[in-house]
Amino acid sequence: MPAGHTFGRDRKKMAFQRQQLSKRVIKDLQKRTTSGVFFYILVPPVLFFTDGYIRRHLDVSLTFLGIFTCICLFRLSHVYVTKKAPDRHTSLHKAIFIVSILLTALAWGLGASYFLFQSDERAFQSLMIICTVGFCAGGVVSFMPVLYLAVAYNFLMLVPGIAAVFIQGDVPSLGIAMVLYSIYLVLISLRGNNEYWTALENEHLLEEKTRDLEIASRTDVLTGLYNRRFFDELFELEWGLSCRRKTPLTLLICDIDHFKKVNDTYGHQAGDEYLKLISRYLQEVFKRETDVVARYGGEEFVVLLADRDAEHTRELAQRLGKKIEGAVLEYNGDTIQTTISQGLTSCIPEPDMNRDALLTRADNAMYEAKNAGRNKIIVDMQ
Ligand code: GH3
Ligand code: MG
Ligand code: MG
Repeated sequence: MPAGHTFGRDRKKMAFQRQQLSKRVIKDLQKRTTSGVFFYILVPPVLFFTDGYIRRHLDVSLTFLGIFTCICLFRLSHVYVTKKAPDRHTSLHKAIFIVSILLTALAWGLGASYFLFQSDERAFQSLMIICTVGFCAGGVVSFMPVLYLAVAYNFLMLVPGIAAVFIQGDVPSLGIAMVLYSIYLVLISLRGNNEYWTALENEHLLEEKTRDLEIASRTDVLTGLYNRRFFDELFELEWGLSCRRKTPLTLLICDIDHFKKVNDTYGHQAGDEYLKLISRYLQEVFKRETDVVARYGGEEFVVLLADRDAEHTRELAQRLGKKIEGAVLEYNGDTIQTTISQGLTSCIPEPDMNRDALLTRADNAMYEAKNAGRNKIIVDMQ
């Protein structure tokens, strides 16, 4: 069942991506919700004073304002703490963040339901309902990235109020309107959540593709080594660094001996396999993180070594030469064996020096090695 199989794989990939993106989502959520917290702090006092409700019900007003403001201040300080140390106790902070949002909704929802029971406070109730509807709509937009949060937030905000309206029973149409509004919010949350994730996954995919393209643009397809273009970039960079630090920069050029004969005798594909083998050996010998190994041309390789002097590099080049001399590639029943010629040079770069001259010196040294009978290392120490 290939189609089903692909579907399963896609879902697994998607789940993996969602896990990878979870940190980003929490950051997004924090950004979306923090400004809202200021409104949570400002709106209730305005509400209580506008209608003069606070004068008529001082105790209950202060209790509500006190609890609600404390939760909001806690949320703001939590945002501050997580911003100061973003990578510490991330799961704990995520839990605190989610619970504090739900607490805000629960506190508001319970408060609103209490006020809705007071049938002699119709004007204040209308203001309360308007604010609740506004907060719920804002909640859908803010919590869209996490569907359960958007739904739970609106559930806690609205359901206590809806229950109060139905229990009290004198305005059932208001209860019905609130139920319909909740259903509408769930549908909007679902759609918004889908759109958010599609956008996020597309963004992530684009970043991945850009990264892949960057890697491809600097890699030689056959050998997996850096290509010449990227080598040139790194050479320029390392030259500048060594110039400033006054540290040695060493270049080694290696060319496979009589490689044309390998192609002519065993075929181009065998030649390709041999090039891959040589590339592996180069990587095995020059394995320090700062060693740059690149394919410079057809069967020619270049190694750039920062902070290694010529003597040390010569030892490595000897090891490489011996390794290749002793290696035999078995290909379609044939055994392929050859050697390499190497040219080495080193300098401590200075601002008035030309870096291409270093390449020419290494290249000339390599040709000297060819002329000296091949399978040799010539060190240019001008
Ligand atoms: P020398 O010892 O003087 O270097 O002799 P050579 O035969 O190695 O040098 P020459 O320049 O005459 O030939 C290089 C050969 O490398 C010719 C070309 O077909 C082969 N070559 C270049 N790139 C590739 C490649 O990507 N794959 C294969 N299989 N062969 C390649
Ligand atoms: Mg050659
Ligand atoms: Mg060549």
